[in-house]
Amino acid sequence: MPFYSPPWVPKLPFDPPDSISISDFMFDENYGRHPLGYSKPPFTCGLSGKEYSALEVRERIDQLARGLAKEFGWHPNQGSEWDKVIGVFSVNTLDTLTLAWAAHRLGGIQTPVSAAYNAKELEYQLKDAGAKCLFTCLPLLKTSLEAAEHAGIPKNRVYILEVPKELTGGHGSPNGFKTVDDFIREGAQQPRLEPLNWEQGHGAKRTAFLCYSSGTSGLPKGVMISHRNVIANTMQLATFEKPYRDTLRQPGTQVDYNETALGLLPMSHIYSLVVICHASVYRGDGVVVLPKFEFATFLQAIQRFKINSLYLVPPIIIVMTKNKQTMDKYDMSSVKGIFTGAAPLGEETANDLQSIFPNWTIRQGYGLTETSTVVCSTSGHDIWFGSSGSFLPSIEAKIVTPEGTEVKGYDQPGELLVKSPAVVLGYLHNDKANKETFQDGYMRTGDEALIRKAPSGHEHVFIVDRIKELIKVKGHQVAPAELEAHLLTHPAVNDCAVIRVPDEKAGEVPKAFVVKSPSVGLEESDRMLARQLQKYVEEHKTRYKWITGGIEFIDAIPKSPSGKILRRFLRDREKESRRRK
Ligand code: AMP
Repeated sequence: MPFYSPPWVPKLPFDPPDSISISDFMFDENYGRHPLGYSKPPFTCGLSGKEYSALEVRERIDQLARGLAKEFGWHPNQGSEWDKVIGVFSVNTLDTLTLAWAAHRLGGIQTPVSAAYNAKELEYQLKDAGAKCLFTCLPLLKTSLEAAEHAGIPKNRVYILEVPKELTGGHGSPNGFKTVDDFIREGAQQPRLEPLNWEQGHGAKRTAFLCYSSGTSGLPKGVMISHRNVIANTMQLATFEKPYRDTLRQPGTQVDYNETALGLLPMSHIYSLVVICHASVYRGDGVVVLPKFEFATFLQAIQRFKINSLYLVPPIIIVMTKNKQTMDKYDMSSVKGIFTGAAPLGEETANDLQSIFPNWTIRQGYGLTETSTVVCSTSGHDIWFGSSGSFLPSIEAKIVTPEGTEVKGYDQPGELLVKSPAVVLGYLHNDKANKETFQDGYMRTGDEALIRKAPSGHEHVFIVDRIKELIKVKGHQVAPAELEAHLLTHPAVNDCAVIRVPDEKAGEVPKAFVVKSPSVGLEESDRMLARQLQKYVEEHKTRYKWITGGIEFIDAIPKSPSGKILRRFLRDREKESRRRK
């Protein structure tokens, strides 16, 4: 018997539509969104205060789509979505989603790239995704031009997303680079676009976002997320939270509660992309956009915009719990609660935060890029620290032991398998990973979970370990295979394996086990060589991928007869040596 959501979770009000684009779903009141005229401005800049109303955003999407159609010769009903791939490499901006929805209006794809990437990492994604153009922001223009050139994107196909002047030193867009506003101005002069003539099923097959995830093993892969996948998770989240939100409604009114949320997590990651930029906007909430996390700016934005909900990751919560005195200087009385995800939130940290803010609801969600995010979440009226809550509606889950037996009862761990309309189409050109990950309609999460009966009487999901090799540093994905491939190009490395080790601030960090190459002289000290190898990673990889967990030299990397690294063995060895210290 699979596990489902508990009885208090309502069913989806209608089947997630599969013949419309995400932009049609998000801005058409017939699909259950909060009335456009009563919605808060979908996005407000947390530094400048600039905002567009929901009706303005709808108009900007239309004009931007017309501008893109003219620039590239794209037509909503001609050509494959793979001919219309837009790369976005930027800090969060007011227009990041407007641009995605304009691409969707033309049947195209947005591939969002982490703004932390260096030129090489950006180039890899642009090439792999087949991006036809690149939108970036002024602070990242230099990196973008370098990567675009190597990825075969001409300079005149690099465009600018506006960011507040605090990030540009007061400079405007440089000459010769078209901005989103230029596109919108030009688009307004262009003829109206034909509606998308999609038949039933079309939206379930067409990729809308291509996000990158390493999945269970190997290098980062393009995850094909369809229009219907995003629509489904948006509906699942909105439906799941409705009973609790109904308790927050003004007495005597029938208008749904809506709120102001803080959007500081990177819009290139599925959590921010779907949970904040789609589900919140669909429910009529306003999102205050911050380009990145910076503690003082974060607290100022909460006070200035009277934020109600904070969408966070555990490392930010740890900063909060350790800096109560700084927070005391700001008025945070508007905040009703937080939502955390992307990595586990320790029970102790949740308790610490609760003791500082006793009235806040502290909710945790669990999800993956491959499930278009949220699979389960705690609700405001069913909190249990340590738990990742209940399954969202229309999710069917199984827990399977390593021997392949399905777990039927409580408190028995096994790998979590998920069936949901939000499970993605698969990985781009990677049949092997698709076969391993998507089986019989279920997605293998690579996470170890168990179900517990909560004091409330409902079933709760606990994520107890990660079976897959992925490392999560401050919620960012780090693929061990990527670091191993890089280390192996160093002449001093004969073989290596990278695993995760716990870290108080980042949650986890990478540690490398290295077999030295015979060419390494005896006079070379381990300490110096380790530092050399760490520097070798620092020179080529973005900061969160750095091997801050240390480097240990060993005689041989433990491997299975088929040559697979026995990471569990290394992790256990590491645990044991930390226990002894
Ligand atoms: P990503 O695709 O980057 O969102 O990473 C998904 C992975 O992050 C999951 O497979 C989990 O290993 C981890 N993860 C996400 N949310 C949680 C959570 N609430 N608790 C534990 N692990 C989580």
